[in-house]
Amino acid sequence: DSSSRKLHVIILSSPGAGHLIPVVILANHLAAEHGVRSTVLQVRIAESPESNLLVPAGDRELVEIVQLPPVDITNLVDPDTKVVTQLCMMMREAVPLVRSAVAAMDRRPDALIVDLFGSESLPIAGDLRIPKYVYCTSTAWFLALTVYSPILDGEIEGQYVDQPGHLEIPGCKLVRPEDVADPMLDRGDQQYREYVRMGKEFALSDGILVNTFEDLEPKTLQAFRENEAMKSVLKPPVYPIGPLTRPVQLTQTAGLKSDVMDWLDKQPNQSVLFVSFGSGGLLSIQQTTELALGLELSQQRFLWVIRSPTQGGVDEAFFTGKGGAEDDYLPKGFLDRTKDIGRLVLKWAQQVEVLAHPSVGGFLSHCGWNSSLESITSGVPMIAWPLYAEQRLNAAMLVEELGVAVRPEVLPTKKVVGREEVAKMVRTLIEHKDAQAMRDRAKQLTIIATNGLKEGGSSSKSICKILLNIEAKEN
Ligand code: UDP
Repeated sequence: DSSSRKLHVIILSSPGAGHLIPVVILANHLAAEHGVRSTVLQVRIAESPESNLLVPAGDRELVEIVQLPPVDITNLVDPDTKVVTQLCMMMREAVPLVRSAVAAMDRRPDALIVDLFGSESLPIAGDLRIPKYVYCTSTAWFLALTVYSPILDGEIEGQYVDQPGHLEIPGCKLVRPEDVADPMLDRGDQQYREYVRMGKEFALSDGILVNTFEDLEPKTLQAFRENEAMKSVLKPPVYPIGPLTRPVQLTQTAGLKSDVMDWLDKQPNQSVLFVSFGSGGLLSIQQTTELALGLELSQQRFLWVIRSPTQGGVDEAFFTGKGGAEDDYLPKGFLDRTKDIGRLVLKWAQQVEVLAHPSVGGFLSHCGWNSSLESITSGVPMIAWPLYAEQRLNAAMLVEELGVAVRPEVLPTKKVVGREEVAKMVRTLIEHKDAQAMRDRAKQLTIIATNGLKEGGSSSKSICKILLNIEAKEN
């Protein structure tokens, strides 16, 4: 009797902690709330990045995380090969590995879910005659831009960033040309062609899961449902299933009590600015100096996850989690002068736990979508400091649509943000009453989000619909 057995889905994760984390969280959520069994297939490169150790554990009974044999693209890349191109190459190399892993399973899985970079594995589901889905671990707005990129590609001449006006996506918030996702910055680069291809392939799935929720992006989600121009490029349904974030670990039980948490315990309520650029963000040496001096100038408390500055791209550490641990690149005397108000953490902090701590009053963030959701659902307002990927788009949404963040006047990817501007933004977040409105807005969104994930809530219903479709195809 097939109806009495648990559904079993395969979820494919592309390399990078920022990709594996949301996939494992989805698997855990499907297990805990819907009794679904998952096998997470993790695509990885040979050099085992230390960041792999930081991925949350899967649900012990229902989630299995399988590392696929490493892929090797060293012969395919040169020093100019961009991150998205590299990701797509890795995922292409992995297709036969995914096929073998699935073929070796005792029982045919009931569905395949791939993350943003895994769409080339969707035909494997076609061969097995099981439903196939894409998991968009970013916003619905980013998804809209991606699936509409093949149309923009035909309609617009020249670089997007040189367009005089905003880019229009049917039924959605306008996109400022400078806010486009990285692959759209240069139409001559291979990562642009990969990105447009991805946009087309998403339309060949049976549906797209997005880590967002109705009240966060009502306009875009409505466009997917009702706008004819949008529906003609993306026929499969879009399912808002979020916000899925990593649950806070109770520090005592998990044995996570650390110096950092002890230090936070001693600070006043909402007084500390948390500074972190995700799993792989790096600053230039000049920007590191200005940020440090800006923090000092603000005279506010801070907890800063530092990595040594980059000589190259801001996304250089994405696959490796690299970035030296020395602190000799900080301005002379900075550590000494800020020792009473500041705390540095090398490379990695328990971000979810930090954001949930009552002493934290603001988050200077690179606006990775996981970090953004974690901040919103902790009621912490942000300084939006986008660096790469689709982070400029996320920043625009956090500031303009959601009203939970402030940002520098000029994008940090265009110009070094000076110390005075840093200090001003930090004071706005920690000192000013204005920040209370942002905090209230985030808290309001959190309540709505929590209800949406409960049985009968909008995100929970989205998942139930997907599971019903999977079950229906089973017979
Ligand atoms: N993270 C963390 N500690 C750190 C940096 C990052 O726990 O010091 C976690 C963070 O909580 C989030 C993820 O790593 O869940 C980063 O994902 P995000 O989408 O924000 O950015 P990405 O790393 O993909 O750029």
